[in-house]
Amino acid sequence: MSGLETFRKETRAWLEKNCPAEMRKPMQSEEEICWGGRDWKFHSNAQRVWLERMADKGWTVPEWPKEYCGGGLSREEAKILQNEMRSLGCRSPLDSFGIWMLGPALLKYGNEEQKREYLPQIAQGKIRWCQGYSEPNAGSDLASLQTKAEDKGDYFLVNGQKIWTSYADKADWIFCLVRTDFSAPKHEGISFLLFDMKSPGVSTKAIPLISGKSPFCETFFTDVKVTKKNLVGTLNKGWDIAKYLLTHERTMIGGMGLRAAGRPVSQIAVDMVGLDEKGMLSDPVLRGKIAEVSIDEMAFVFALERAGDLAKAGQGNPAFSSVLKYYGSELNKRRYELLMAAGGGDALEWEGARSKEGALSRAWLRTKANSIEGGTSEVQLNIVAKRILGLPNA
Ligand SMILES: Cc1cc2nc3c(=O)[nH]c(=O)nc-3n(C[C@H](O)[C@H](O)[C@H](O)COP(=O)(O)OP(=O)(O)OC[C@H]3O[C@@H](n4cnc5c(N)ncnc54)[C@H](O)[C@@H]3O)c2cc1C
Repeated sequence: MSGLETFRKETRAWLEKNCPAEMRKPMQSEEEICWGGRDWKFHSNAQRVWLERMADKGWTVPEWPKEYCGGGLSREEAKILQNEMRSLGCRSPLDSFGIWMLGPALLKYGNEEQKREYLPQIAQGKIRWCQGYSEPNAGSDLASLQTKAEDKGDYFLVNGQKIWTSYADKADWIFCLVRTDFSAPKHEGISFLLFDMKSPGVSTKAIPLISGKSPFCETFFTDVKVTKKNLVGTLNKGWDIAKYLLTHERTMIGGMGLRAAGRPVSQIAVDMVGLDEKGMLSDPVLRGKIAEVSIDEMAFVFALERAGDLAKAGQGNPAFSSVLKYYGSELNKRRYELLMAAGGGDALEWEGARSKEGALSRAWLRTKANSIEGGTSEVQLNIVAKRILGLPNA
């Protein structure tokens, strides 16, 4: 038996033994996600146990080095772990901006002290991070940001405002883009800082959403002191880190639909619409559309995997994350349009769950944001046109 086959068998056995039954059921809503953090209240004992067991093995971040509490797995092993988790229906033990975005950026740009300080806390779900990028006049044109950090000797003094900061009111720390040189061209005066959201001078204000929830905030900084130890990378070179982090964010958002998908669309639709006398989904038009989405989802899984392999081998084009972001977001929207069509009146239910998937209407509305967050679809198409197809500016 090959080494990888042995790894698969052992992994499966470990998951079967250690993943609590409750953590193998599809989530009913976003509320069941485990985000971790200083003040995290576990929804159940099973959620706590599952996080602790996976974190002990380093499997919340399977490919990170062991010295930072990662699993130290090879790409092939990590894929096996992912596939085995998927086939057993295991939930993700921990979702976090630290894992998806900041961690990869620190692994590349952080100094040793920063890696030792922050990466283990991310891997174990001890600190919850938020992302301070967008500002009222700097969204798609992010490099126009105006939040300023003045050099005060051994610290920076930060003043300004961020907007659309997801979970800022629940986060412990923020990774934040600030302007440290106002005289330089806009991309060259930006730095990348980390600071505690409990620092004096930080405040947040929730922004309600159409889905009835309010994960967003406006975030204000008034004379916030940030020690220089928390500057990541080189002063005024934060744009490189910002872009690198965005490639991870975009790949993550592209795959968001697949991760959250749970059961295949076809199975959900069978529950909702029923089968005809030939054992086929009784609505032929819906059947055709579901086949299309299912095939596209399968192709997208392979595209994601290929992009990951190329990136790991150092052969990826960073702009490909825009392809994944664009396609994955649009695909997720199509998936939920179909589920809404299949569900009919029941799908409009706002609270509770008439389907096994929970309140569909909220999930459907949430997909509308996929093509905005992390950079809009239009902006991704611009990047693809310029950086992949090599087309001239419009
Ligand atoms: C669910 C969600 C979560 C988010 N979380 C965070 C977060 O945690 N932290 C954070 O910092 N930000 C966050 N954001 C903000 C997000 O990054 C911005 O909304 C996004 O970058 C777009 O910026 P904007 O809203 O200012 O829109 P604008 O930039 O004002 O764009 C308005 C419209 O103009 C179009 N447009 C703009 N420029 C161009 C162009 N050059 N070519 C073609 N079309 C263009 C856009 O596509 C869009 O349709 C979040 C957003 C959402 C929806």
